[in-house]
Order: sequence, then structure tokens, then C-alpha cells
Amino acid sequence: MSFTLHGIGVSPGIAIGVARLASHSRIEVAHYVLSQQHLDKETARFDDAIATVRNEMETLRTQIPLNAPAELPAFLDMHLMILNDSMLSEVPKQLIRSQQCNAEWALTQQMEHLVAQFEEIEDVYLRERKTDVVQVVERVLKVLLGHPDNLPSTESNLADCILVAHDLSPADMIGFKRQQFAAFVTDVGGSTSHTAILARSLNISSVMALHNAHTLIRDNEIIIVDGEQGVVIVDPDDAELEEYQLRQHQWQIEHQKLKRLTTSRAATLDGVEIELHANIELPQDVLSVKESGATGIGLFRSEFLFMNRADLPTEEEQFEAYREVAAAMQGMPVTIRTLDVGADKPLGGLTQHTLNPALGRRAIRLCLAESALFHTQLRALLRASHYGKVKILIPMLSNLVELRLTYAAIERAKASLTADSIPFDSGVEVGGMIEIPAAALMAGAFAERLDFLSIGTNDLIQYTLAIDRADDGVAYLYDPTHPAVLQLISITLRAGEKAGKPVSVCGEMAGDPKLTRLLIGLGLRRFSMQPASLLSVKQQVLKTHIGNNVNMTQKILKASDAEKMEGFLIRLNQ
Ligand code: PEP
Ligand code: MG
Repeated sequence: MSFTLHGIGVSPGIAIGVARLASHSRIEVAHYVLSQQHLDKETARFDDAIATVRNEMETLRTQIPLNAPAELPAFLDMHLMILNDSMLSEVPKQLIRSQQCNAEWALTQQMEHLVAQFEEIEDVYLRERKTDVVQVVERVLKVLLGHPDNLPSTESNLADCILVAHDLSPADMIGFKRQQFAAFVTDVGGSTSHTAILARSLNISSVMALHNAHTLIRDNEIIIVDGEQGVVIVDPDDAELEEYQLRQHQWQIEHQKLKRLTTSRAATLDGVEIELHANIELPQDVLSVKESGATGIGLFRSEFLFMNRADLPTEEEQFEAYREVAAAMQGMPVTIRTLDVGADKPLGGLTQHTLNPALGRRAIRLCLAESALFHTQLRALLRASHYGKVKILIPMLSNLVELRLTYAAIERAKASLTADSIPFDSGVEVGGMIEIPAAALMAGAFAERLDFLSIGTNDLIQYTLAIDRADDGVAYLYDPTHPAVLQLISITLRAGEKAGKPVSVCGEMAGDPKLTRLLIGLGLRRFSMQPASLLSVKQQVLKTHIGNNVNMTQKILKASDAEKMEGFLIRLNQ
């Protein structure tokens, strides 16, 4: 019987497909009953897989670069310890024999059992170690299945499959860039969590915060996902299917029509040029940047190069990735943000599990503490600046000391390249992200010392309103048009104007066409967003007359009643 679930629509579009439930491990495992005479062979196969993974990890352990952070060996040691624990390396063999099942099935059963035990632990840090168990199990499963990567393997066409998960990490999502599902739905998550941002970058409809989709939906059930309305219909009847097929078709037509705007100049009706740049996570995203007609990359989230791997990318690997993007953009600006890990983007042993990770050692704080890691990245970035218009963007600045230390690190990287006779753009621009209220309030001081500013509204809203951006429990309070947020954006824009330094918005607000007019009215002239949103925003720019909006924008800026904001916005957008 058909039923409907309501959540937060985080990536628009309508998908109709077959549900694929993600287990704790995202690797699909089949169940076989084996005959008695095959059990020895199966346990030997399991032992071989454990030995292979052990070898892999031990080799990795010996190859850790000298400049790697101190936590990395500890992280690998922990994974080796988990692998060698009899709960993982012995108990599955008992299951193979007692249940006469295949090794993959036995291992997954044991993993679920261990995860359930971890989930009962009160200590947050220890509880989170279940992730390490899952990661180790996935490594073994990959060997057992002979898979080169850790994504669900399936004989069916993934384009028809809708992934239903309790939760997906940004690292999972980045993996999905290589295997496209029709849609994603999850029980938890907020609309500006990095997982949601990545769903938008994949241009795949997605609904989050459904609370119990993972328990209510069964594998292989037909489901409809409406990523605009945040609705999921399970086991739809014929009338619902027909209605949504029609809506899907209309959505595709609208989308197609927008493509006509790809090459048109983004200017308002009163002739003001608006720069529309794109956000990317991996070099391969440049393709969609080109298709969107973006005139530059306003945010390359470099941290995704560091995910889904046990080691850190070398200077050479990073250089290649940055150079590839810089060269592909053919002289258009490419703004690369230095490593921004922590909070909802943990990175192996590098980030710490503290009580408030969003307020902890993340982004530039972590880079300044891990000077070798930062030096490697800065050298790679500077080297790439020789091959295109690379700009360096520093995340999470909160005071001028951090800025001074960052400049000193950049100078050291430049000096070392000069000593090695390696070319780089000596005039490479350095910008800072304004994502902490303190930074917005002193945007003038930052603007004087930097070449440009970029407002990270995702974090700025999170820190201004004290709302965890990834927590759906408080998602109703996450309000981009809260008067305090608009004030901080306005202060930053005015500071940039006064200092004669460009300011962009690269948070998700920039990609919301409902906010385009308001942001332009506040003085924003440079937007950076997921490529999939760019043409809708351009359409809005083309319909905007700045002069006609001055009064309403001022009214909005002076408003202190968040509840009236929606009405004001509707009027502004008419
Ligand atoms: C932001 O905070 O708005 C931003 C662009 O950075 P991220 O979403 O990666 O934290
Ligand atoms: Mg941010």
C-alpha cells in the first residue's frame, strides 16, 4: 500500500526508481547457503582476505610520508588492531560453519552485531569507533568481492536505483560521483550539510531528514522522490505514478529551456554585470562547470581530494589536481580553498573527536597546527598558479593572528619553491572566507589585508544562529534570511566596497534563486554555487532591476521580524 514520507528536499528534481537499502557497510552482499564440503574452502577464502588486507595496511604503515600528521600512524594502527581482533578475524569463520553461509555474509552479520554493540556505548568518542569497524570490514569485503572500490556493486542499472540510507557521509557522497544513483534519501541530515551540498553537486534529487525511511522502506520497493517538496512516496499507486511521471517530464522540459541561457551574459535589466562562478569538489567537476556557463570557479573544496583514502595526497598529486583544473578553466579564475576538514568532514586520524567539532580544531586552525601538511598544500597550490589564474582561499578565519600566520606560511612555501627554481605566480591572490560572525564584524580589517573576501553563508548561519547545519532536529531554525544573518552579510559587503576588494558569496545562499534579488540588492556582484543551480540564478539575474528593488531591499534589511521576511521576499521577487 502506498504511503508518503516528508523530509527536507535538499536537491531538486523528481526520481522514480527501485529502493536500494544501504547497510552499515555500503557494499551489497549476497547470501548463499553452502554445502558442508565447501566450508573449509570458504573459511580459507576468508582467512586469505584478512591476510591480504593486513598486508595492505602494513605496507601502507611503512609508506607514511615523513610530513604526514602524527595521528595517521595511530589511525592505521587502530584499523590493524580492529582487523586482528578475533571478533572480526575469527568469529565470522564460526558463523560460516554454523550458518553454512558465504564469507561476505558472515562478515557483514558480525559487523552489524559489533555496530549494534558500539551504538549502545555512552561515550561519544568510543561510540563513533563503529565507523572504523565498518571501514575495516569494507576493506575485507572489497577483497572478498574482488571490487576495486567500496561502492555498492549491483548487476542492475544504478540509474534506476534510489539509495535509501540512515545516513551518508560526505566521503560516501564523493564516492558516488563515480556511480550515479537516480536519487538519495536519508533519515538524517540538514540542507547545508556537506552531504546535501554534494547531492546537489551530483545534480541528483535528494530528500533528507525522513527520520525512519531506512526502516520503513524495503529493498526493491518502487519509490518516488520529489527533491523540491521533500516528499518520498513509497509503493505509489498508478495515479501517483502517472502524476509524478508527468511532473518529472515537465521538470526536464524546464531544465532543458534553461540551457538556452548558458552563453548569455549575466547582467541585470539595468545593465549591472553579475559574476556567476561555480563550486567544485573534484577536478572532474570542471565538466559540469563548463556546461553551466560559469565564468570561473569561486570555491574548489580541496578537502575532498583527501577523502576516501588511507594516506594523504602528496604534493605531486595535489599539484596535478589543481593544475588540471587551472588549465581546464583557460585563464578564468580558479579559487582553491585550503584544506577545510573537521566537523561534518572528519578526516581519519587528522581530525579529533571532540564534544563540539564544529567549534574545534578545523579548517585553517588545523592547517596552522599541522604546518608540514599546510606547507605541502601551499606548495602544490602555488605550483599550479603557474598554469592558470589560481587564487588561494583561506577558510574559517576568526582573527588577524591567523591571517598573519597564514601569510607567513605562504611566504615560506614561495621561498622554498624559489629555492627549488620551480615557477609560480608571485602575485597569486589570497582571499579569506567570512564564515564566523566575529570575522564578519571585523570584515573591514580582513578586507584591508586580503585580496578578496568570500562569505561562507553555510557556516556563517550555523555560527550566528547556533544551529548545527547537519542536524535535522534544529533545521527549522536554520534561516538564511534571519535579520542577524542579513546584517552580517551587509556589513561584509560594505567593508569590501570600502576597501575596494571584491566580495563573493560561496555558501548555498548563492545558489538559491529566491535569494538572488535580495543578495544583489544588498550589493553582491559575485556569486559562486553548485553548477546545477547556476542557470536558475542567471535567469533570476536577467529579470532583476536593481534600481526598482532599492526600497524593498532596505525594508528587508531594517526588518527585525523574521516572520515577516517571507512576505517581503515574495514581494521582492514579484
Ligand atoms: C560555507 O560555509 O558557506 C562554505 C562555502 O563552506 P563549506 O560549506 O564547505 O563549509
Ligand atoms: Mg564553511
